[in-house]
Amino acid sequence: MSLAHGRPYLAIPGPSVMPDRVLAAMHRAAPNIYEGELVEITRSIVADLKTVARTTADCAIYIANGHGTWEAALANVLRPGDAVLVPATGRFAHGWAEVARAMGAEARIVEYGKAAPLDAERVADALAEDRDHTIRAVLGVHVDTSTGIRNDLSALRAALDHTGHPALLMADCIASMACDRFEMDALGVDVALTASQKGLMTPPGLGILWIGEKAQAARAELAAVSPYWDWRPRCRPEVYYQHFCGTAPTHHLFGLRAALDMLLDEGMEAVWSRHETLARAVWAAVEAWGADGPLRINAPPGHRSHAVTALSLGGDRAERLRGWCAAEGGVTLGIGLGMADPGGPDAGGFFRIGHMGHLNAHMVLGALGVIESGLTALDIPHGPGALQAAAAICAGK
Ligand SMILES: *Cc1c(COP(=O)(O)O)cnc(C)c1O
Repeated sequence: MSLAHGRPYLAIPGPSVMPDRVLAAMHRAAPNIYEGELVEITRSIVADLKTVARTTADCAIYIANGHGTWEAALANVLRPGDAVLVPATGRFAHGWAEVARAMGAEARIVEYGKAAPLDAERVADALAEDRDHTIRAVLGVHVDTSTGIRNDLSALRAALDHTGHPALLMADCIASMACDRFEMDALGVDVALTASQKGLMTPPGLGILWIGEKAQAARAELAAVSPYWDWRPRCRPEVYYQHFCGTAPTHHLFGLRAALDMLLDEGMEAVWSRHETLARAVWAAVEAWGADGPLRINAPPGHRSHAVTALSLGGDRAERLRGWCAAEGGVTLGIGLGMADPGGPDAGGFFRIGHMGHLNAHMVLGALGVIESGLTALDIPHGPGALQAAAAICAGK
């Protein structure tokens, strides 16, 4: 007997749960890609994506995942000999730095380890040392999905402004967009990027860039950009076939249109506070369990993402817990990513809870209940009162 029969719940930090409304919008015949509804909704999608990111910047859509947006952002600004500065608070900052290196740029890492947010002072020092302005862009990861750390992007803006360094500020908002508050123009971000499969609740396959004026000016300095990654034709939806560099991602666009309707019906302020409250419910439960056992939240208070929580249990306990929750409870938890040496003593000691996108109180409280059952079934020591604490947060107490 297993208690996993019923609607499964994928509680990993992307791809996230797809709303029935998004799935239903995609369940239709192939549309005309040259005129009509698809062309019209693309205009409205671009406008609404600007609302979601709180910006008037240009917006380009690629048929790509998050890795594609990393490459797109760099391909439009890097000149031979340029460097990028990468404050690293987890695996994803290193991933973006690796892409920059593979494209021929020097990547200067400012390392903060796996359990601390970036501090802008060391970034400012690195910028001040760069007297000949070799650094073309600072690559900031808003929420690092491996460590669950949320970084303060305004501190990066301040470091650039105080040192008078002309580098662009780029923000990876792949985990945070439509989950953690992000206001591109107020933050002074020059390029923001995301992918469709996290807070935007649409299947993986769309990569989105928002491109400010300063970044457009940087693009204009380049003689050539590889045509698929060039963002300029994509910023001109009136040339529809150019916009996608070929055939449009038809059904993804229908899905994203439905997802944006849901986000804007709810309102971005409400979307952000829902994520905050549900994240706080998760943390309250984990803190209660951890009061009498090995479970810990990785990110320090004040720097925790509202979209994903990374946790440590030590040994192989997290792997066993994930296995139990999937097989016996119908909840799939995220693997630990980049936290332990593969094959090392704690290789199975980390996991993540995704709480991004199409998510409500019953899903979070249900997942927490299954985790409590798993801890109990596997005799993993844990303190009492976790579900009570989470329920109190959902009740606004
Ligand atoms: C998911 C994620 C990525 C990678 O996105 P893919 O679609 O898997 O390429 C990059 N950065 C962050 C912060 C992410 O959460």
